[in-house]
Amino acid sequence: MLTAITKNGKKLCLGYDYKKESLLSLRSKEDFFCPICGESVLLKLGDHRIFHFAHKRGGTCREFYDHESIYHLDGKRQLYQWLIKQNIPAVLEYFDKEIQQRPDILFKFNGKKYALEYQCSPIPEEIFSKRTKTYLENDYIPLWIIASRHLQLKQRDIDTLSNFHYLFLRSSLPGTFFIPSYCPEKQHFHLVESITPFSIKNAFTQHSFYSPDRLEISSLLTPKPQKRIYMPKWKTEMDRIIQNMIRYSDQHKKKFLLEIYNNCLNPFLLPPEIGLPVPHSILIQTPPVIWQTYVYLDLLSHKKPSDFITMQEMKEHLNRRVKRHEVVSRHLPQVSHLNPLLAVIEYLLYLTKLGILSKVGETCFQVKEKIWIPHSNRERDESMVRFNQKHGSLCKIINEN
Ligand SMILES: [Zn+2]
Repeated sequence: MLTAITKNGKKLCLGYDYKKESLLSLRSKEDFFCPICGESVLLKLGDHRIFHFAHKRGGTCREFYDHESIYHLDGKRQLYQWLIKQNIPAVLEYFDKEIQQRPDILFKFNGKKYALEYQCSPIPEEIFSKRTKTYLENDYIPLWIIASRHLQLKQRDIDTLSNFHYLFLRSSLPGTFFIPSYCPEKQHFHLVESITPFSIKNAFTQHSFYSPDRLEISSLLTPKPQKRIYMPKWKTEMDRIIQNMIRYSDQHKKKFLLEIYNNCLNPFLLPPEIGLPVPHSILIQTPPVIWQTYVYLDLLSHKKPSDFITMQEMKEHLNRRVKRHEVVSRHLPQVSHLNPLLAVIEYLLYLTKLGILSKVGETCFQVKEKIWIPHSNRERDESMVRFNQKHGSLCKIINEN
């Protein structure tokens, strides 16, 4: 840990730049105590490790500090310095007695109280969620930053993200999701942005790197808006998912395939309107091509032009599929207030832009034309050409605005 209390109750915070000599002289005449348990602690001033306090062997206060690595101490210290250099009121290792939690750094920004947790070791999801929930219930905004070394960078724009990575996912602008990380060795922030998953583990991503003096807190909390995905690449991944599904079919996939066969659909001849990237799809772990097929089957396939799709129907559709575990939401403790229904609505809005639906009022859609289902490879190619034309002009409109 980086903070301790002296005999006369003063706090010593090693987050500041102390010279070794002054700490050596302080150590010779002072005793230090743990701010949490009150036990006596040692001031460690090795040459190769960063200055820190440690409990004596056999101490009882193990929960908070004992497994702190130098990487963690160093990262936490650098993040603290990054904040105070911006004149942001911050407290290192603030212990909140009421909730019995100790964020690495407490800071205040724009009238809000933040609990920064710099996480270097994997922790169980339940503990992560419990801490996050406690912060939220006590008016803290949790800001979890993952240690960079947990992010394996790929050369392409596709990353494999585990459930552990997704715990760190936060949102800034509506529909903008990112994972913040920090590396004390390279001394930079590493942001994984524009995360658009197309399967449980794989997602299109963008990576940005910033040295601490070139990134302000506001830019960390609100990074750039989501980048649009290159449609042909996305469609390639959609096709791959269907191929893999047929090749390596488990019980869930078999159920999905059976349902689409029963509805006279061919998994290889799905229309291009099924399996589109929408921002809030990140809230759903089930691949977009699967959950959108269910949207098609439940809300669109049996409707005729001028029929309506109501909000009530959308909710019932999603609840039913979730209850049957055919659509599974993703575990995202820091954005748990967002409802996966947002993804369904966004998908219908996408179809509206493609001329399939029109929006009626705030909560209702009306069918304009049926989605055309191809019955041969030639027809699928044709539908793809038409889709690309519509989609191309759609992108043009978006880019021009
Ligand atoms: Zn202690």
